[in-house]
Amino acid sequence: MEIQKSEAHLDGPLFKNALQTIEEAAKLINCDPNVLERLKRPRRCLTVSVPVRMDDYSVKVFTGYRVQYNATLGPFKGGIRYHQNVDLPEVVGLAALMTFKNSVLGLPLGGAKGGVCVDPNKISRTEKQNLTRRYASEIASFVGPTKDIPAPDVGTDPQTMAWFMDTYSQEQGGYAQPGVVTGKPVEIGGSLGRNHATGLGVVYIAEKAFEKVGIKMAGATIAIQGFGNVGSFAALFSHQRGAKVVAVSDVSGAIFNGDGLNIPELIEYIKINKILKGFPNASSITNEELLTLKVDGLFPCALEGQIDTHNAENIKAKVIVEGANGPVSVAATKILHKKGVFIAPDVIANGGGVIVSYFEWVQDIMSLFWDEEEVNNRLKTIILRAFDVGFKFHQEKNVDMRSAAMAVSVQRLEKAMLLRGLYPR
Ligand code: NAD
Repeated sequence: MEIQKSEAHLDGPLFKNALQTIEEAAKLINCDPNVLERLKRPRRCLTVSVPVRMDDYSVKVFTGYRVQYNATLGPFKGGIRYHQNVDLPEVVGLAALMTFKNSVLGLPLGGAKGGVCVDPNKISRTEKQNLTRRYASEIASFVGPTKDIPAPDVGTDPQTMAWFMDTYSQEQGGYAQPGVVTGKPVEIGGSLGRNHATGLGVVYIAEKAFEKVGIKMAGATIAIQGFGNVGSFAALFSHQRGAKVVAVSDVSGAIFNGDGLNIPELIEYIKINKILKGFPNASSITNEELLTLKVDGLFPCALEGQIDTHNAENIKAKVIVEGANGPVSVAATKILHKKGVFIAPDVIANGGGVIVSYFEWVQDIMSLFWDEEEVNNRLKTIILRAFDVGFKFHQEKNVDMRSAAMAVSVQRLEKAMLLRGLYPR
C-alpha cells in the first residue's frame, strides 16, 4: 500500500508489520481484493486534547487517541495505553492487531485501541484520575456497551477503568454503565479470573503446543522472559502443572536454576523486593542468554521485537509461546519455522485477557456473574478451539502457525463483510 503524506498515521513499524501479515494471509485464502483493500485501513481515528489540572494548579494538555479499526464482527474492543511513546501510528497498529486477534478467537467483537501520550510514573494518583476522567469525557460519545468497550493496557489498571466507567456513567445521567469498560474491579462489575487470564491462557496453549511436538508439561523445562502480569502467572500455572521453570527475567536481568526455580517463593520475593535480582538459589544470566537456553518451551512475555533475524538462528527452544504482543518478528518466524521450532502466535496465545474481558462484558449485560471455575473453563474452551482451527490450517497448508492464525482471522472477516453486503464484489 502506498502511503501518502496525509496518511502518516499508517506509517508506523507495528502497523507495517501487521499489514505484511494481513497481505500474506489474504494470499493464502485468495481473499477478495476489495475486502483486503478495506481491511488495510482503520475505520476511524480520533485525536483529542486532554487538559488536566495538575497538583501545582497549572493546566497541562496531553494528547489522547482512540482508533476504531473494524467493527464487522461486533462492537469495537481494545485497551487504553498510558505511555510516553504513545502516538497515532502505534495506536493504529495495536487497533489492527486487536481486530485480527478477536476474529481468530471467534469473539463477536471488532478491534480498537486507545492511548494517551503520558508517562504514568511521572504523574500523581490525583493527576492520573483527572487525566482519565477528561479523556473519558472527550471520547464518551464514541464509546459505550454497544459501541466500543475499552479495557486496561500498559500503564492503566482496574482503578483506571473504574474512573473511566464512573465518568461515562455520569455523562449518561448518572445511571451506572458497567458494560462500557472491562478489566474493572470485581466490586463494580468486573469478572473473577480476569487478572490471571492471559497467563492461564498462555499455559493452556503451551500444554497443547507441547502435546503436538511430543512433550509433556510435567517435567518440561521452560524459560520465561518478563515477570509481570503475564509472565508471573504463566510461570505459576506451569510450575503447578509440574514443569521446571528454569529461568525468568525482568528489567534487572535474568535468573537461572537448572533444577527449576521455586515460583511461589519468587512471587513472594518480588512483592517485597520489586526486582528478581538477588533471589537466592539462582544464578544470574543475561536476557539474551535466557532467550537462547536449551529448553522445551520459551515464553516471551515482556516486549515486542525480542527475537529477530539477529538471534533467531541461536534459539534452541522446541516451542515458543508468545505471551507478549509481537515478541517474534515475521522474518524471525520464517527462520524458526524452517528450523522446526513450533511458534504459538500472540493472536491466539495471549488471547486469554480479551476472552475474559468478553466474559466480563457478557456478565455485565446479563447482570449475572459466574464463579471463577466457570470463567477458567470457558476460557479454556475458547482459546483451545482457536488453537485447533489454526493448527488444522497450519497442517493442511504447510505454513507456520502465525500465517495460519492470520489466514483464519482474515477469512472470517471476509465472510462477514461479504455477508453484510458492505463490500460487494
Ligand atoms: P507488565 O508491565 O505487568 O510486565 C512486563 C514485564 O516485562 C516486567 O516484569 C518487566 O520488568 C519485564 N521487562 C520489561 N522490559 C524487559 C526486558 N527488556 N527484558 C526482560 N524483561 C523485561 O506487562 P504485562 O501485562 O505482563 O504485559 C507483557 C506483554 O504482554 C506486553 O507485550 C502486553 O502487551 C502483552 N499482553 C498483556 C496482556 C495482559 O492481560 N496483561 C494481554 C495480552 C497481551
